[in-house]
Amino acid sequence: MNKHYDILIVGAGHAGAQAAIALRQQKFEGTIALMGNEKYPPYERPPLSKEYLAGEKPFERIMLRPESFWGEREIDLLTGCRVAKVDPIGKKVTLSSDEEVGFGKLIWATGGSPRMLNCAGSQARNIHGVRSRADVDKMIAALPTTENVVVIGGGYIGLEAAAVLTKLGKKVTVIETLDRVLSRVAGETLSRFFEEEHRQHGVTIELESMVEEFETNDEGMATGVKLADGRVFPAEMFIVGIGIIPETGPLVAAGAAAGNGVDVDQHCRTSLEDIYAIGDCAAHSNRFADGAHIRLESVQNANDQAKVAALDIMGEDCEYNAIPWFWSNQYDLKLQTVGLSTGHDEYVVRGEPSSRKFSIIYLKDGKVIALDCVNATKDYVQGRKIVEAGLSLDRTQLADTEIPLKEIERV
Ligand code: FAD
Repeated sequence: MNKHYDILIVGAGHAGAQAAIALRQQKFEGTIALMGNEKYPPYERPPLSKEYLAGEKPFERIMLRPESFWGEREIDLLTGCRVAKVDPIGKKVTLSSDEEVGFGKLIWATGGSPRMLNCAGSQARNIHGVRSRADVDKMIAALPTTENVVVIGGGYIGLEAAAVLTKLGKKVTVIETLDRVLSRVAGETLSRFFEEEHRQHGVTIELESMVEEFETNDEGMATGVKLADGRVFPAEMFIVGIGIIPETGPLVAAGAAAGNGVDVDQHCRTSLEDIYAIGDCAAHSNRFADGAHIRLESVQNANDQAKVAALDIMGEDCEYNAIPWFWSNQYDLKLQTVGLSTGHDEYVVRGEPSSRKFSIIYLKDGKVIALDCVNATKDYVQGRKIVEAGLSLDRTQLADTEIPLKEIERV
């Protein structure tokens, strides 16, 4: 075995980097390696579909820490290393280069890979996923020769990319299978609001539309996307934003319990001894989803699970119970969400969507479970406490923007 670390963190993204930082903050004195298959130091992923794609923030400004930080904290940053195999008994991993690295404890923080389409022409070079700097650098390089873009998937990432590319003067079409955008994450009012915003900015949105295949040319480039109804949308660039597949292969092969992601308990421990999983790849029971076993894909979840794993390693009593929050920027709209709206049975619209400053408050069994706040940071900040406490509040007052959320009467 070439090397051994007390803590080996596999995946140098948001969760992995935060785990290393948290361990040192907790005065962990053993050896730590932060190992990732990308060739760059850890960086923020959210700007990839926002300021980085727009050319408004260079890479240096989206790095999670300056490059010197890791060495100064005695964290060995091992870039360009893909873990292919985990041996939970021998406590070592094997890299795709065949190199072996031993560990005392392993933190698996590998995120996910973009789910891509599997149909005729789907391997064309100008069909892009949006997950890494490399993905977005390829898109940026192709922008000067691109006039038309088709975005497949009307989720946050697809819509953010659509907003940026429209701002850059591209003609964008969004293809969505379901009958509204953001259907997986938001209620109908918010979906219709964003749909209308994009249309007003010139984006074409095709709902209830299934991709059948890509038409390609002799150079291996897609020239158009054909839908199941026979219509063809020609473009020079295609972006697929239809979710991720958690990167769990080596850990599952090693015997870790898994379904949609690696299963972890409230301490982020997997079913394998001394092996933790955190971030987008980890499925956990979430208090804000009525205890359902879910994966969250957010910076909040990555950072908070990283802290829990670090504290558990340090022998501190700590459970993952953090409130979910998320944001998305499209045009001049700042969406902030708190809580999980899935399963709501009622909602209140607070403010007028046409004013482009409003909130949607989701309730279940009379209790506020989530808020989507558009350009309404005050509601988001105050709503957070309400969701955390699971309060039942007067509906009429909730809709009244004259009454601050924190002053609304309980019922
Ligand atoms: P990642 O950050 O993906 O890190 C995982 C790392 O592990 C990657 O570098 C990967 O290459 C590496 N890896 C995978 N397999 C292996 C292996 N076998 N060996 C070694 N290394 C491996 N969240 C928000 O809260 N707000 C936003 O606005 C937002 N916008 C987003 C926009 C985009 C374009 C994307 C892609 C994500 C966005 N997210 C946003 C989600 C957020 O970035 C993720 O939830 C977060 O990055 C998850 O962190 P992670 O460490 O689990 O995974």
